[in-house]
Amino acid sequence: MGLEEKLPSGFLLNTVENLASLARKSSVFPATFGLACCAIEMMTTGAGRYDLARFGMEVFRGSPRQADLMIVAGRVSQKMAPVLRQVYDQMPNPKWVISMGVCASSGGMFNNYAIVQGVDHIVPVDIYLPGCPPRPEMLMDAILKLHEKIRGEKLGVNREQAAREAEEAALKA
Ligand code: SF4
Repeated sequence: MGLEEKLPSGFLLNTVENLASLARKSSVFPATFGLACCAIEMMTTGAGRYDLARFGMEVFRGSPRQADLMIVAGRVSQKMAPVLRQVYDQMPNPKWVISMGVCASSGGMFNNYAIVQGVDHIVPVDIYLPGCPPRPEMLMDAILKLHEKIRGEKLGVNREQAAREAEEAALKA
């Protein structure tokens, strides 16, 4: 009997998926991208006191081409929205988004024509982080939750398409 028959079905694919997701979650590189006061807490999280390096991600990349995480830290103005989308589009797949603070998630106190009322109108969001501003410990908790999500993701799945399909299915239900 060959090795393939001895192994349980899906063994190799599961092992490769496991390794890939472990590598991905252990080396998430955020884009350098801060919009308002929340960005100060994001920068603090990247400093020595909170030691993001232990999660393999202390380097905030200057180019979106080298980043796979966008932390939307602060309110998004209507003028900034197309730029934000362009930065997101320039990031290679797979990529993730954390919406940091109430302003990024829902417009927060800025309920007016100049501010986007939730960054999920512009890009798909993986983790919503409440607070004004969220403390560095909260951002680290969001990052660890994102790690769990990345660990559960399958290889070769188009996440935006999957999200669209889930949305359509929810609307039909
Ligand atoms: Fe500033 Fe608070 Fe809005 Fe963050 S949530 S951008 S700290 S006003």
